Amino acid sequence: MGSVGAKEVPVLLSPDGKRIDGRRLDELRPLKIVAGALHQADGSAFVEWGANKVMAAVYGPREVHPRHLQQNNKAIVQCKYNMAAFSVDERKRPGLDRRSQEISKVISEAFESVIFVEEYPRTSIDIYIEVLQANAGTRCAGVVAASVALADAGIPMVDLLPSVAVGKIGGAIALDLKKEEDNFGEADMPMALVPQSGRLVLLQMEGHMTAEELGRSLDLGVQGCRSIYEVMKQALRDRYQVGGGAAQEVGA
Ligand code: UDP
Repeated sequence: MGSVGAKEVPVLLSPDGKRIDGRRLDELRPLKIVAGALHQADGSAFVEWGANKVMAAVYGPREVHPRHLQQNNKAIVQCKYNMAAFSVDERKRPGLDRRSQEISKVISEAFESVIFVEEYPRTSIDIYIEVLQANAGTRCAGVVAASVALADAGIPMVDLLPSVAVGKIGGAIALDLKKEEDNFGEADMPMALVPQSGRLVLLQMEGHMTAEELGRSLDLGVQGCRSIYEVMKQALRDRYQVGGGAAQEVGA
């Protein structure tokens, strides 16, 4: 442990470039996706990514509630991201807070830009993301789970949306930050990519990077998203094969 002021911070990067969990800088945590994990929803997916466990359920296109949100020329996309009280070390107060409202908004907007919303006027496509266990990167795990759940629900989209956070730890650019890296690193940048066009539909950043580091982070994130995309597609292939439903894994 090193120390910064009164705060004890873990050493995030060893002299040989290994991270606290032994990963390389460009290595993802193990990722497992099960498409169609819930019977009641129109579409669903369960994602285990490192120590994150996230369920997504999709309903729709269906009647809009509340009614005044209805749009005559397109469907609206309403995402509710929720972190369970028991999902983190220090119990989280249940219910809506600013963080979950912000995450719900950016995820709704990301999906609104890839779903063919104009095909379903006066309807709502509802996405529920429940974080059951959290270890940083839960909004990205939520986007991955929701993408697979939307495809499982048969909702037409331009493409699936792989998503990952890139950041800066111990002065180096690293892929897929875990909690200590997110808390004590210098920067955290979640993103979501439309793989076929290379368009980013979600990009946020906390902390500081130089322009050159930002460029390298974007490259590393795009590369990470492309690996995640393969796992997402395989989860859907397995779901729709006879006897499918097996979990898809990367890096395990
Ligand atoms: N976290 C927590 N309590 C909270 C919010 C977050 O313990 O009320 C933890 C949790 O592990 C989360 C991480 O901090 O995954 C990073 O949170 P952030 O807001 O950066 O979002 P995320 O990285 O999960 O998308």
